[in-house]
Amino acid sequence: MATGVLLCPLIASGWSGVQHVQITRAAARNLPNEMAGFRSFARPMAFPSIFPDLWRLSDSTEGPRHYFEPDRFAPDFDLMQLNSNRLVAFDTQILESPDVIGIAPWTIMELMEDMTESMRTNDWMWAARCGAAMSHYLGDLHMPLHCTRNYNGQETGQHGVHSRFESDMAKAFVQFDDIVPTPAVYIEAPFRALLGWAADSMAVAPEVLRADVMATRVDNGRTDTEPYYLKLWELTSDIVYERLGSAAGHLSSIWYTAWVNAGRPPIPDAFEELPAYSVFSGVGIDPPEIDGQHRRQQKQKFDVIIWGVMGALALVVIGSSLYRGAQARRPPAP
Ligand SMILES: [Zn+2]
Repeated sequence: MATGVLLCPLIASGWSGVQHVQITRAAARNLPNEMAGFRSFARPMAFPSIFPDLWRLSDSTEGPRHYFEPDRFAPDFDLMQLNSNRLVAFDTQILESPDVIGIAPWTIMELMEDMTESMRTNDWMWAARCGAAMSHYLGDLHMPLHCTRNYNGQETGQHGVHSRFESDMAKAFVQFDDIVPTPAVYIEAPFRALLGWAADSMAVAPEVLRADVMATRVDNGRTDTEPYYLKLWELTSDIVYERLGSAAGHLSSIWYTAWVNAGRPPIPDAFEELPAYSVFSGVGIDPPEIDGQHRRQQKQKFDVIIWGVMGALALVVIGSSLYRGAQARRPPAP
């Protein structure tokens, strides 16, 4: 299907774009009343929360920000002792390179500190850009297969499970109104909280992989059919909604904590839109000042996003009718 081809760069690298948008919107809605002024920032921030997956196309250092694999540590390693300074942690505590183990918790921590400082100094554009990027990485940290070394089933002969679960299935079945964020609270120790959330994701990763094995048995080993996806959804929908609800709740908690730490500054009206450039490297998805071949390549990437999101929205509609069909076929409860 053409849409699937267009979506390839997106589906290989995180929740589908639609889920990142949903997390941002749900988090903004979930903010405490005293920070209600920030809720309208959901509009300009929602779409840019997809962008980090596109920055990966032009920035070779972007990838490790999207995952963290605690099951690469020895079983007796105390995750909570990790240093919140990334350089110190990788110099003194972690044997693997950042590329191998991932740096999502440190990335979110750095963005939170940046967001706090920009709110304090009244730079709301930068605060919003950090908040949107943070939404992406926090969403990824709540995706179980972003927190395990067996992230694509490559160690258990389940190649492709990553995008089947997080993208193809989630895009087709997740309903925004069924995402229930956990309450937004002030977080005393954000880095430890981030490590705990990663550990929660890691803990359910084996269940996701088991569900894939069971769903594969439903249709003679096929993983590209309706029976496979219906079974996978039946077995993992509770996990998906718990993880998405936690991601949205924790995101609103981090935004709220940044704002409180900044001294609860007055919140201005939201912007119309945010620039697409990376908050880390400045790479864009469609930088207008670059001409020639590079400009054309960037334009193609931008088209991928637009068509990707449009295709994803179409799949959501198809998926929800598929889901309703499955519900209708289900025998009534005794
Ligand atoms: Zn990602």
